[in-house]
Amino acid sequence: MIEIDGAEGEGGGQVLRTALALSLATGQPFRIRNIRAGRTKSGLMRQHVTAVEAACAIGGGHCDGLAVGTSSLEFQPGRVRPGEYRFAVGTAGSVGLVLQAILPPLLLADGPSRLVLEGGTHNPHAPPFDFLDRSLFPLLGRMGARVTAQLLRYGFYPAGGGRIEIEVTSAPLAPVELTDRGPLLETQARALISALPGEIAAREIASVQAVLDWPPEYFTIHPLPDGSGPGNIVLIEARFAHTTEIVSGFGQWGVPAEQVGGRAATRMAGYLASGAFAGPYLADQLLVPMALAGGGSFTTVKPSSHTRTAIAVIHRFLDRDIRIEEAAGGCHLVSV
Ligand code: AMP
Repeated sequence: MIEIDGAEGEGGGQVLRTALALSLATGQPFRIRNIRAGRTKSGLMRQHVTAVEAACAIGGGHCDGLAVGTSSLEFQPGRVRPGEYRFAVGTAGSVGLVLQAILPPLLLADGPSRLVLEGGTHNPHAPPFDFLDRSLFPLLGRMGARVTAQLLRYGFYPAGGGRIEIEVTSAPLAPVELTDRGPLLETQARALISALPGEIAAREIASVQAVLDWPPEYFTIHPLPDGSGPGNIVLIEARFAHTTEIVSGFGQWGVPAEQVGGRAATRMAGYLASGAFAGPYLADQLLVPMALAGGGSFTTVKPSSHTRTAIAVIHRFLDRDIRIEEAAGGCHLVSV
């Protein structure tokens, strides 16, 4: 039985989701305690309960005492069954995070899957739909597995109500080298806004424009139907020939629009100047598929605590040598 201390490293939900994914993919059971001990409200939130339920459903898994607030659990994986599934978080909890627990084993399953996930599609501290669709999934395609996504309905925190559909064509994953991002093909900054004053989006876009010197037509505002809000996000996207980085800024009560836009733009400027292949979020999300592929490498800006935590959890399940070395231009090379 693999024992995991959920307080280690980042100490968030990622520790649990990574363990679920690797347990299903490798068939090894695990016990975790101190779940999300590093967060203000520790223990399982609704989104994490859905992730465990989803892992049990797709992997014939078994787990006792699953409830919101639980701080330790034991997970027994079964056989992964690809197919059609629908999972609803029931709150605005992120569907992208639920996916982190179940997508890796489905990539390797012996057939295709179709998932409908309901909850939050654009949440703070989680990969927004656009990031999954255009940043992460194409790279899983480079490893051999085809993953396509459709946004059927937006769901912002705190209302939720979003819906996405994912189609997975599994394959044996192959190691890839992700170090050359290729030429820059397209950039854009979009502010999405629903059931909030439009001037918020206009101020965000103006503050992004103050940092990123792109032609005016690259900046757009997208009002969404009121029913999907209230909600607001700024998505700044840079599409290179071999990778796409999407930096997001989430509108939040009490945080001025200028700060939301300005911070996101500064992060994108840093990424563009770096020459790194993967931004900080993509980095931690590439590690599990790479470890399952048995190898691969990528360059990234500065390894985040989520990245180091993913490595630590991978080491509990798989015998992989994962190294982080300093590379040219302040980049880091992560190799599995
Ligand atoms: P945790 O904080 O442990 O729940 O993990 C959060 C996960 O969401 C990590 O895998 C992060 O890489 C990912 N994440 C957080 N914010 C973003 C973002 N803005 N874009 C993409 N991924 C994100």
